[in-house]
Amino acid sequence: LFGYVGIEAVLDQMKIKTMKTGFEFNIMVVGQSGLGKSTMVNTLFKSKVSRKASQPGQEERIPRTVQLQSITHVIEERGVKMKLTVTDTPGFGDQINNENCWDPIIKYINEQYERYLREEILITRKRKIPDTRVHGCVYFIPPTGHWLRPLDLEFMRRLSKIVNVVPVIAKADTLTLEERAEFKQQEDLKTHAISVYPQEDFDQDPDDRVLNDRIRENIPFAVVGADQEHQVNGKRVLGRKTKWGIIEVENPTHCEFPLLRDLLIRSHLQDLKDITHNVHYESYRVRRLNESNR
Ligand code: GDP
Ligand code: MG
Repeated sequence: LFGYVGIEAVLDQMKIKTMKTGFEFNIMVVGQSGLGKSTMVNTLFKSKVSRKASQPGQEERIPRTVQLQSITHVIEERGVKMKLTVTDTPGFGDQINNENCWDPIIKYINEQYERYLREEILITRKRKIPDTRVHGCVYFIPPTGHWLRPLDLEFMRRLSKIVNVVPVIAKADTLTLEERAEFKQQEDLKTHAISVYPQEDFDQDPDDRVLNDRIRENIPFAVVGADQEHQVNGKRVLGRKTKWGIIEVENPTHCEFPLLRDLLIRSHLQDLKDITHNVHYESYRVRRLNESNR
């Protein structure tokens, strides 16, 4: 009809636009205390995501987390700017009665939707609404090697209705290979119909399905966190030094932290943002606007 017009030039335009404005990406870590959440926040920032941005010589001990706390770094790579915020949360499950221990977390997630909504419904609104919504929530499962506890199931059930949940097995270096394999074969999440990220319902096409099926087979990722660097064969690596050797967190043969980081920061970043906006935020918005119209 028209012959070649060259509409793919739009791709370059999108790219340039994103480079100019940058983008925001927000992650949250959730789980019982002592499972390595705060360490993981540091691991994320100290690993290749932002090696340049991290300051050397900062090796303080991680204090016990007592309140929700967000850390933001602007990470720039080849002209692309990402404002990465990781929200650390205090551990729950310390109380004898853990009823409603999810309330503060769910409240925080909903508050970010509310903030966004308030900006969005203004008559004169910002061209770019600041986005503090949680795009991915990493849920730490204790490395017991047994079935998921009722508390974990209940928490993830609630969370997965409002946010993208990425479950991980915490402190995976404490599991034997058999325990780890057994843990990963659990069908708990499926049997309890808890839909963690990447949700099967949102696969867009057969290619997506193939790619995401491979990720789903590997979930929950067995991760190890560390915030200290060590020398290995003349290279500095992030790892945990034990009597038996160094567990390198960025080495895929040692643990699955690289898979977690790749999923969040590389391969599925835009998808996490899209699902947050189109599914989770959308249902919050509908619910809220229905309420206020009553
Ligand atoms: P949080 O309460 O979940 O924030 O846990 P922290 O990050 O404060 O870590 C609690 C303790 O577990 C600290 O002594 C950490 O050094 C240790 N830890 C953190 N990550 C790991 C891990 O992957 N493996 C092991 N073995 N210990 C870890
Ligand atoms: Mg902590």
